[in-house]
Parts: sequence; structure tokens; C-alpha cells
Amino acid sequence: MTPQSDIPPAASGSQLVDAFGRRLHYLRLSITDLCNLRCLYCMPAGGVEKLEHSQVLRLEELARVARVAVALGVDKIRLTGGEPLLRRGLDQLLAELKAISPRPDLRLTTNGLLLEEKLPLLIDSGVSTVNISLDSLQPETYGRITGLGPEGGEQALAALWRGVEAALKSGALQVKLNVVLLGGVNEEEIVDFASLTLDQPLAVRFIEYMPVGRRTTFEPKRFLPAGEVLERVGEIGAYEDLPARTGDGPAQRYRLAGARGELGIISALSSHFCGSCNRIRLSAEGRLVPCLFSEASVDLRPIIRGGADDEELAQALLQAAHNKPQGHHQEPANLHSAGCQMSRLGG
Ligand code: SAM
Ligand code: SF4
Repeated sequence: MTPQSDIPPAASGSQLVDAFGRRLHYLRLSITDLCNLRCLYCMPAGGVEKLEHSQVLRLEELARVARVAVALGVDKIRLTGGEPLLRRGLDQLLAELKAISPRPDLRLTTNGLLLEEKLPLLIDSGVSTVNISLDSLQPETYGRITGLGPEGGEQALAALWRGVEAALKSGALQVKLNVVLLGGVNEEEIVDFASLTLDQPLAVRFIEYMPVGRRTTFEPKRFLPAGEVLERVGEIGAYEDLPARTGDGPAQRYRLAGARGELGIISALSSHFCGSCNRIRLSAEGRLVPCLFSEASVDLRPIIRGGADDEELAQALLQAAHNKPQGHHQEPANLHSAGCQMSRLGG
């Protein structure tokens, strides 16, 4: 596809459209680089340098970017991190996001450790969907993946489950479990995870392990193509394909016969969905990143702090959208670490 020409001026009615004609209407806001876990696929092995307080966007700056993005056609905003539930002032931020008109669909991705405590806030703020990252149901494996060790893993897993159960009991938001597949680590649990959907009205989404973040060690031998999931799911019984739903992103959806919940498979690497990508990401330090696998970004912090008005900020967003690459160059047979630090960018 040939890129379309110049960036349009940020006149009223402008939309975030990239040079290949894709409309970017889904903004992922990383609201902190801090995290209470050290997942082996996310953080560099030698530890990660914390951003200075002043480097992280302030709550009002985050809300302002969100407002300008909504004026440019964004209708879905996901809070992520680091661990978003650790962000001080989350209540204030959510209140500001809820007040944006038209109100975007607010979602959040969390490791779930603080979910039970923060659930009432999320419900009051109108968060529609919470994605909880959970890669193992076994305390030992969970502790290994998250860096907590076996004992810490057991306690954390118990806290996470209290959060999941409270969210399901509330009936107030959709609950999705995100499982990153790691060959030789959690692949034997595919059937256990999928079976959770038989009795519970939740979505379990299997996600391919991705080589994101130049400093994070990527272990190619752990890459498990998402396609293998279906073979294992077939061991449980029959399943049906579910139609793609607007706003659900790139997951291919399935339902086991008679199940209350559903399954999703997200294969960013084994089957590119770049052609239909509608995302743009804001890192915790204020870089607008159009592709997870590219370090190309537009730094909004100096623009915001340099006194830019909303028109100038909108122009910067349009510029970042325009810079979105057509696709990534990762292939399962040739995976290489690329892109920004995941724990600052938010997945
Ligand atoms: N701390 C929150 C959490 O874990 O849900 C939000 C931030 S985390 C960076 C967002 C998502 O990115 C999580 O679902 C995590 O599993 C996923 N993620 C991180 N590194 C990844 C990698 N290398 N490959 C695939 N998914 C990854
Ligand atoms: Fe923290 Fe989420 Fe990264 Fe795990 S995946 S280290 S919980 S930011």
C-alpha cells in the first residue's frame, strides 16, 4: 500500500489516521513505570531503572492527552503501566477520563494484585473491562514467572484470585485473563486455563510471547505459536468460532461447547494483524509510540511542558499517527528484541 501524503492540519474534525489509511482510535496510556512484579518476559534481567518523578507525566497531563486524542476520534482508552493500580491519584485520573465528552470506553490492564482493593473505584469510574495478567495457576510457576519465588507466588496468586472473584461477583465489568504462553513453562496449563471458561463468565486470552524491549532478554526457545493452543483446547471437547466483535481487537475468539465464558488467541507474531492495527500508545514518560516493535516516537512531554496549546498538541498526535510503520518485521523464525521497554509502554 502506498502511504498517503501530508499530515492534515489539526482542524476540527481531524482524525488520527496513519499514512496507510488506518484510523487509530484506541489509545493505551501507560500511567506509571512502577511495578510490584518482575515478570521475566517484561523486565530486563539486571533490573530496570526507575524514571525520575519529574519524567513521568502528571495526572493532568495524561488527562489532557486523552482529551485531545478523543477530539481526534479516539473512542477507547486502556490504562496500563507498569502496574496502573499503583499510580497515586488514579481516582482523580479516572474521574477526569470519565468526564471527557464523548466518554471513551475505559479499560484497564493489571497484574491483579491490588484488584480487590481498587475494584469499587474501577466500577464507580465506569471501567468496562479489566484484563488481568495471569500466566500460571500453579503457585510455583507463577512465582517463577513473576520473580516472587514460590512462597511469594502463592500469596500473590491468592490475592489475585480474590480480585478476580470479586470482579466476577460484581457483574459490573467484563473480566479477561491474559495468559502469555511460554514454551516449557506454562504450556501444560493451556487446558486448565481454557477449562476455567466452562463455569465462569470470563474470557481467557492466550497471547504469544513477544520480543519487546531491547534490554529484555528474549528466549526464542520459549516462543509458542498461538496456533498450537487450539490443538490443546480440542482435548477438552468441541468448540465453535465466534465472530469478530467491534472493539475487541485482534483476538480470534472461540467458545467451548456449553461454556459460560470464551477463549481468545492473540498471535501478533505468527499471524500479523498489522493491517488492521488501530492502536497508539503513550509511554509513562510521555512518548507517543505508534508501534510496539519500533522505537520511533513523538516526545509529547517537552511539547506539553513547553506551553503548547491544544491545537499544537493535536498536531503532535497527528504526526505520531502519520509515523506509524506499515507493519513489524518479526517472524517466528527470526525473532529479535526490539522496541521500547514494555514496563514503561504497557503492552
Ligand atoms: N502490569 C500490568 C499487567 O501485567 O497486566 C500492565 C502492564 S503489562 C506490560 C501489560 C501486558 O503486557 C501484560 O498482559 C503482560 O503479560 C504483557 N507483556 C509484557 N511483556 C510481554 C512480552 N514480552 N510478550 C507478550 N506479552 C507481554
Ligand atoms: Fe509488571 Fe505487568 Fe511487566 Fe509483569 S507484565 S513486570 S506485572 S508491568
